Amino acid sequence: MVSITYWQRFEGAVADVSNFWKMLGYRTVMDALYFSRTYRALAPFSRGCGMIYMLHRVLPARENAFQPNALLEVTPEFLEQVIIDNKAAGVEFVSLEEAYRRMREGNFKRRFAAVTLDDGYRDNLEIAYPIFERHKVPFTVFASSGIASSTCELWWLALERIIDENREVRVSFDDMSETLATDTVADKYAAFARLSKWIACDLDEHSQRRAIRRMADDAGLDLAGMCRSLAMNWDELRLLKSKPLATIGGHSLGHHAIGRLSEEDARDQIWQDMERHAYELGDIPEYFAFPYGGRNAAGPRDFNLVQNLGYKLAVTTRPGQLFPDHRSYLTALPRVSLNGLFQKRRYAELLREGAPLAIYNGFRKVNAA
Ligand SMILES: [Zn+2]
Repeated sequence: MVSITYWQRFEGAVADVSNFWKMLGYRTVMDALYFSRTYRALAPFSRGCGMIYMLHRVLPARENAFQPNALLEVTPEFLEQVIIDNKAAGVEFVSLEEAYRRMREGNFKRRFAAVTLDDGYRDNLEIAYPIFERHKVPFTVFASSGIASSTCELWWLALERIIDENREVRVSFDDMSETLATDTVADKYAAFARLSKWIACDLDEHSQRRAIRRMADDAGLDLAGMCRSLAMNWDELRLLKSKPLATIGGHSLGHHAIGRLSEEDARDQIWQDMERHAYELGDIPEYFAFPYGGRNAAGPRDFNLVQNLGYKLAVTTRPGQLFPDHRSYLTALPRVSLNGLFQKRRYAELLREGAPLAIYNGFRKVNAA
């Protein structure tokens, strides 16, 4: 059973899919749109002037039965196919800088797509970069400076590992005291759903980190070591930044849901990240991705905040294509998620033509409230 309730506030396009049946329903709707060709009839309304694709990790398919973060991984083969299919459909891959310029100038002669990858995983350099280079696709990696410095807790991956490696997980933190069975795959998914909701929704942003640190200590898991093994360090980010196709953007210091922080804390998280990028990479970043980035993770206060701090453009994880009206909302842009749970060419085609995104948004072009 795939349960991704926690992703309602998270970095995925499937904002409302809370269990297997809803997921199945979502796929059924996607398939119905596709095989009935309804998505083509809707294209005049659903297709935007451009898109910003969102990815996280690019990894070969894995065999594990328990992969609660599978939505964050696409295979290199799928990524390459999406690039080829987009080009065949006349979509031009551009840098975020070029996308920004076209939005500002109202230059929509040709449909464009910018590719972005969040968090700064090492596979972006080792596996995705050769694909981008082969197809001459510019891309932006939004690197959280806490992750690059190994001071940030990758709690969603830590939770996966703790549950995966144990037959039960005991949690004792504040008023939470519970022992969860994690013996079978179904147990593991149920425990992940329960604990990820608790961490992401019930606890405040700072308590959630204390909680995951406690759980990691109890399980003997080295959180800093996880960052070092999974994410690019500053040397690797400098190497990536030296590539002509690559841009490095900001993703906040501690990868918190900015909208859940006080304004002072939010500003601090974004500004310290900008300073660290400037120190390590030589330039203040110009593009920002809100961590998690759903409705609760970034709102109008935060869209203004990043603009006032000097960012030219910022992206959310709200699903949607770009429309000319977005030129007034350049720090609240939606994205098109290439989601590991939807790795089929037909789903990528649906997203490219926009029908499921338009339906999700009730055919409103801008969703920045
Ligand atoms: Zn992120």
